[in-house]
Amino acid sequence: MDTYSRFPLTLVRGKGLWVWDDEGRRYLDCVAGIAVCTLGHSDRVLRRNLCHQLGTLQHVSNLYRIPEQEALARAICERSCADKVFFCNSGAEANEAAIKLARKHGHVVRGIERPVILTAEASFHGRTLAAVSATGQPKYHQNFEPMVEGFRYFPYNDTAAFEALLAECEAEGPRVAAVLLEPLQGEGGVNPGDPAFFQRVRQLCDERSILLILDEVQVGVGRSGRWWGHERLGIEPDAFTLAKGLGGGIPIGALAVKASADLLRAGEHASTFGGNPFACRAGLTVIQEIERRDLLTHVEAMATCLREQLEALVQRHPTLLERQRGWGLLQGLVLREEAPSAPDLVKAAMAEGLLLVPAGPRVVRFVPPLVIRPRHIRKAIKRLERALLTLA
Ligand SMILES: *Cc1c(COP(=O)(O)O)cnc(C)c1O
Repeated sequence: MDTYSRFPLTLVRGKGLWVWDDEGRRYLDCVAGIAVCTLGHSDRVLRRNLCHQLGTLQHVSNLYRIPEQEALARAICERSCADKVFFCNSGAEANEAAIKLARKHGHVVRGIERPVILTAEASFHGRTLAAVSATGQPKYHQNFEPMVEGFRYFPYNDTAAFEALLAECEAEGPRVAAVLLEPLQGEGGVNPGDPAFFQRVRQLCDERSILLILDEVQVGVGRSGRWWGHERLGIEPDAFTLAKGLGGGIPIGALAVKASADLLRAGEHASTFGGNPFACRAGLTVIQEIERRDLLTHVEAMATCLREQLEALVQRHPTLLERQRGWGLLQGLVLREEAPSAPDLVKAAMAEGLLLVPAGPRVVRFVPPLVIRPRHIRKAIKRLERALLTLA
């Protein structure tokens, strides 16, 4: 179906940071399938482990115990505040599980009949009906009303607005089950969370036994330079969701919860494919390789390198470029009103052999594989600058 306005580009092969189109042209990939290909393309270890898993066992069912799933759950819990994990197949699906968890918490812990979940404006939580209802962007709701009820929105990082909405919702007693937030808004324009705001939200949630759930689908699994984006905000969530980078290109999603938020019981949620041996082998390999190659330290170094070069680019083109923003390997270049639009710049960069992705009309987003090297970053900036000059 015509659900995508695709670029006229057909990619047929990839290796590391590079992909090739059907005419043999090579592109430097700073998209990584939108923050998915954590280890780059065609990684040797991921390929070896997945081939081995294909030859051992691909899929059974959650009717039975699955050792790879238990090992991946353990790997996530050992590196986070979580105690239990539910596996599914995508970010939207992970958020659906989180929304069900939040509603059950509202009913059984807070005694609310019609629980409400607070989410941010300009957020992005996926395209299934509840996840898109959670998404605070009216353009994604249009033509699909009625939305799933029970979501209220407030401006991201705005403590006063959050406090006012919470007070309004709870004026006549408990009404709010959870707050669902991205540690950094990716799709909504690469807006990093403000630690002071998140710490205040954490405090207010604690006071009322409201769940704080973080959507780590884009920033989780090393992209922030820490295992989880919330480590940059100085808080622990009650639950968080993962997907994109976790499988390094194999579809997988997860909802991770603390023991105190471990509320879903047998028969209350399920997925046929969720957590199968193949997908979990991919997730395990990604986590093991991040550790073995010390990629968290590497991401911090590469993030500094990328930030400095984007800032230098902004200084060279102050009439077109406004600023760099974001952290880790999730950074955005904000374009001025007078500059070409982000989609036009992305198209021009493609002609220079560089893949980037817009985050809204005025932000170009960098979400490269975590294995990017300084030489790739230098090349990317050069190509981006050439693209900018062809449009200016
Ligand atoms: C991409 C994304 C989603 C949706 O993930 P899908 O796998 O496309 O369903 C949800 N939340 C955030 C923060 C995302 O970036």
